[in-house]
Amino acid sequence: MDDAKTLGIVGGGQLGRMLTLAAKPLGFNVVVVDPKPGSPASQVGAEEITADLYDPSALQKLAEKADFITIEIEHLAAEVLDRIASLGNPVNPAPDTIRLIQDKFKQKEFLAANGVAVAPYSEVTDAKQAKQLLTRFGGKMLIKTRTGAFDGRGNRVVANAKQVDAALADFGSTPLYAEAFVPFTKELAVLVARATDGKLALYPVVETMHTRNICDEVLAPARVSDGIRAKAENLARRTAGLLNGAGIFAIEMFLGRDGQVLVNEIAPRVHNSGHFTSDACHTSQFEQHVRAVTGLPLGRTDLTVPAAAMVNILGERDGETTVTGLDKALGVPETAVHLYGKSPTKIDRKMGHITSTGDTIDSARQRARRARKHLSV
Ligand code: AMP
Repeated sequence: MDDAKTLGIVGGGQLGRMLTLAAKPLGFNVVVVDPKPGSPASQVGAEEITADLYDPSALQKLAEKADFITIEIEHLAAEVLDRIASLGNPVNPAPDTIRLIQDKFKQKEFLAANGVAVAPYSEVTDAKQAKQLLTRFGGKMLIKTRTGAFDGRGNRVVANAKQVDAALADFGSTPLYAEAFVPFTKELAVLVARATDGKLALYPVVETMHTRNICDEVLAPARVSDGIRAKAENLARRTAGLLNGAGIFAIEMFLGRDGQVLVNEIAPRVHNSGHFTSDACHTSQFEQHVRAVTGLPLGRTDLTVPAAAMVNILGERDGETTVTGLDKALGVPETAVHLYGKSPTKIDRKMGHITSTGDTIDSARQRARRARKHLSV
């Protein structure tokens, strides 16, 4: 008889895939809900329920099959998870945390109310009010959709009245909010793992770099002073401490010119800024998340190498996926390639990532970039 416990994941994309790859060696069966058959997670052995993530019956079915439930994406029917959790099934992170994070405006309100430093922000009600906000926020701001946004989709930088009108016309009736543009010197991120007993474990502070609002490169450890590092760690610990539930929380931050650290946003799940952990830390974020949501003890979070650099493999064209250059990429020393099994490829679609390690950030980064140039998907 198979007495293995089952981990249920809402979403079977690349994060679900890497969670599956981490859960299997710990003896778990995995089942995912994903809208498309043949999801990245199912390709590595997860059972699949093909359904929309807002489909209540699919989440109910997942709950019937799984001993532990978690998520790889926060855009889902949180109220169904609420009901499932109220029946006593462990759902992590807590559904109220997921609901809070789903609405980026509510998330900001929550952080501000709890004394966490964030950029000035406001709801957007109409064009006239948005233009007033632009003046209040110093002439440059971002208009963002409150819900459903990921990988920077749903963000627009505006710096004059015409751009405000154009952004509002494009976003249509979607609920919006605005944020002052932060002239940051770096973007930082800290992954915090929380066990079911409340214990926290922090991963090293990393630098994240974005192209067209999509995370493109991550450097670990961040090239910042000890003082800034401590500030980022304290802020991450405090922010994660405000949220309910176990698992990985990624706290994304802006480092200002004056050394001020602001929280940009929270992801209540494994995150792109932590992909380097699979090849450069004692416990990958994926294994750590599985440990956390299944009630197992957390593992060590420190680096096993002096430095690591992660580069995303974003799609460069639209069409059938064909991978070329893998042999050359793997010829670069201390380099690991992770492909997500997605097809078709699309411009800027996250198709995989590369992590290189080295004695210095520069050498790790050069290796990762060199390997990236060899690969085409
Ligand atoms: P988000 O999806 O809201 O985290 O935004 C994606 C990226 O857009 C961030 O990582 C930043 O590079 C940029 N961004 C978002 N908000 C701001 C802001 N208030 N000021 C400057 N850049 C921002």
